[in-house]
Amino acid sequence: MKDVLQRLLFVCLLAGFLVSVASAAPLPRVKSVRYDEGSLRIELSGKATFKTVHWKTANRFCVDIDAEGIGMAADELDVNIGPLTRVRWAQWKPENVRIVLDLTESIRPVLLTAPPADTIVLRVVKTAARLPQTPPKVAKPVPVVPEQKPVDKPATTVTDPIAPVVESAQSALIRDLRVERDDEGRPVRVVVVTDIPTPLIPSWTMNTLSLELPNTEDGGRERILVVGDETLIRARTSRYQGETRVSLDFTRRVAYTVAPLEESNGYAIEWSMEIPPETSIVPEPAPIRPNKPLRELTIVIDPGHGAHEIGAKGRYGFEKEANLDIARRLRSALENKGVRVIMTRETDVYVPLQRRPQIAMEARADAFISIHCNATKSPQSQGVEVFHRRDNPASYWLAWFLYQAHRETTGLPGRGVKADSRAPQGGLAVLKRNTVPCALLEVGFLSHPDESRLIADPRWRQKVAEGLVSGLEKWAGGSE
Ligand SMILES: [Zn+2]
Repeated sequence: MKDVLQRLLFVCLLAGFLVSVASAAPLPRVKSVRYDEGSLRIELSGKATFKTVHWKTANRFCVDIDAEGIGMAADELDVNIGPLTRVRWAQWKPENVRIVLDLTESIRPVLLTAPPADTIVLRVVKTAARLPQTPPKVAKPVPVVPEQKPVDKPATTVTDPIAPVVESAQSALIRDLRVERDDEGRPVRVVVVTDIPTPLIPSWTMNTLSLELPNTEDGGRERILVVGDETLIRARTSRYQGETRVSLDFTRRVAYTVAPLEESNGYAIEWSMEIPPETSIVPEPAPIRPNKPLRELTIVIDPGHGAHEIGAKGRYGFEKEANLDIARRLRSALENKGVRVIMTRETDVYVPLQRRPQIAMEARADAFISIHCNATKSPQSQGVEVFHRRDNPASYWLAWFLYQAHRETTGLPGRGVKADSRAPQGGLAVLKRNTVPCALLEVGFLSHPDESRLIADPRWRQKVAEGLVSGLEKWAGGSE
């Protein structure tokens, strides 16, 4: 009997010991939250269990993770792409981190990882018909099914002899991405090699240095080089909003230099922990532009929509009216500089989409600028975005100069210079068959309370027009 009691006591003690060991084991931390190409990745410092909650009525989706601590300075990530507005996170219970996805509509993101996992991947897209609807049994992330490439329908109404030449023009290809090390094996340089010259635009997102390579492809794949150094974690290529990027995941922000390679096309990126990150040296990429005085150029201005096509509806009026008014002001300001200006419409009339680029091509214009106002269901979406034709670097640079100028004059937040991958069927109609350097400017959001008020203000529209002229002067690049 005594023996049994002793044994029972031992078992109880052992059980108590095990319980205390289990609860003493530290819970993982949430290391990072990233959004890329429709996927949200939540990275943890170790495996954790989690569950999801879908609040249909609030257009919200939550991931509750058994985790302790958040290793990020920010507490939210502004996305505003597709149905995902933003992602927020907080330690809402001592042993639970809640990640909230704010959505524009009641869609249910598809979970691509099953608990427990150290990386939680969610696919946030409007139509998820081609993706698994239930979480798979395995803990490994399921590779995301690539979205079907939009098929360009052959044009029946547009006959443009130059178009096939431009359309067969190749994007730059990434030939190599490598990490070079010093004698002691420490990574000191990342080298990216492309087959033809391409601009490079660097920017930081948290501790990731993103190097945007417009008009560049990586053969449809994503490379990942795991470095695992105390400074550089990894180097990788990815697609983001239709552009290829090289992303360098650092442990913290560093000072860096970007230098064009001498022996081939591409860049070498070096960094230093010793000097402050603000002292980074980045070369001025050589823009592709007319290199002529602005007054020698012909510019086609395309006020979006017209007549029964009202565009977006704002509190103070229709988009078609604001587009036309800004376009007219831009025309006057350009004509004052001696520029030859052609409008695709001068009044409230309907001009078919395929006719608009034709006007620019027939005039052998130097630039085609389409003017629009943005709108979404979410009243929080705001800022400036400019679309360019993906396979045309001249189009990219026009968009870039308009974007910089418009942000400078208005002070509105930037949403980026984007390839025309937004619309279905291969892009925006006024850009996709346009052989003239072309850009579509969204001046602001009619669905945003402050921006719709600005757009309704004639003084603001005048300021916008003048700002665009100074941007176009910089873009033209010729001395007056
Ligand atoms: Zn529009």
